[in-house]
Amino acid sequence: MVLDEICSVEDNSQPLRFSEIEDPSPGENEVLIRVSACGVCHTELDEIEGRTPPSFFPIVPGHQIIGRVAAVGKNASRHRLGDRVGVAWIFSACGKCKFCRAGNENLCADFRGTGRDANGGYAEFMTVHEDFCYPIPEEFSDAEAAPLLCAGAIGYRSLRLSNIGDGQSLGLTGFGASAHLVLKMVRHRYPCVAVFVFARSERERKFAMELGAAWAGDTTDTPPHQLDAIIDTTPAWKPVVEALKNLEPGGRLVINAIRKEERDKDTLLSLSYPAHLWLEKEIKSVANVTRQDVNEFLQLAARMKIRPEVEEFALKDANQALIELKAARIHGAKVLRI
Ligand SMILES: [Zn+2]
Ligand SMILES: [Zn+2]
Repeated sequence: MVLDEICSVEDNSQPLRFSEIEDPSPGENEVLIRVSACGVCHTELDEIEGRTPPSFFPIVPGHQIIGRVAAVGKNASRHRLGDRVGVAWIFSACGKCKFCRAGNENLCADFRGTGRDANGGYAEFMTVHEDFCYPIPEEFSDAEAAPLLCAGAIGYRSLRLSNIGDGQSLGLTGFGASAHLVLKMVRHRYPCVAVFVFARSERERKFAMELGAAWAGDTTDTPPHQLDAIIDTTPAWKPVVEALKNLEPGGRLVINAIRKEERDKDTLLSLSYPAHLWLEKEIKSVANVTRQDVNEFLQLAARMKIRPEVEEFALKDANQALIELKAARIHGAKVLRI
């Protein structure tokens, strides 16, 4: 499935085109992967609609890829033919700059995103540098493993950046693929953290309660008490303003979104310094993921037996999966089977 140009998903319900392209062949340090599953992420909508535009067209999107090594370049030795591997959002980084050297390759100026700056996994085959794919723990099926690579890894990073400690209270605003994995992670890692979920749809709120949330309400509902940290995974601004209001003094809002949509940006004008920012409230965004995030999260997910709830689609139905994601008809994570 390829994207030919930036367009609005509201005007064009078929943004991706099902097409036949040449099989890629691996460079010297690359592996060729025969893709079996690829997760569908909100970032694909940001790419299609131009909020984080692809660096070339036509491009194959997709950055939560599970497959098997089908060929190796002549200098590639980390993976063997037939090995099951995954590819995440980080396609490459320079490896030399101060950010890369300090373990912050997610902040590298030459960061390349899979499916945005290189062809991704909405396809039968892809190639990637051998250092940027990961063995997948055998606990997971292909479809279960796919959403761990973005929704899970970035959820792991956002939970780490929230600085939450056991016994504290954590809010999640938005309850899609990443947030539901964060809730599962919290239930296992911090059994005394109470989780408060803010979601627009009744179905998402019910799902959150089933997974062990202490409370679930609409985006503008007031929780029973203020919260130590809140992770926002929505594409909008209103949840940001609401979340700041619900933070304890010294609390931190972590925004886990690559881009925000413009639609309700004027909501920011309702920010009141005393209600939303005073008393040392903090806002921190989460940018990309590092290979360490991905590897650590995969191991953790295997130990904790985290099983993402997945909904499967055929590759040719990728447009339908994206439209449903745009409409926030979310129940767990959407995965393409290839
Ligand atoms: Zn993603
Ligand atoms: Zn770098």
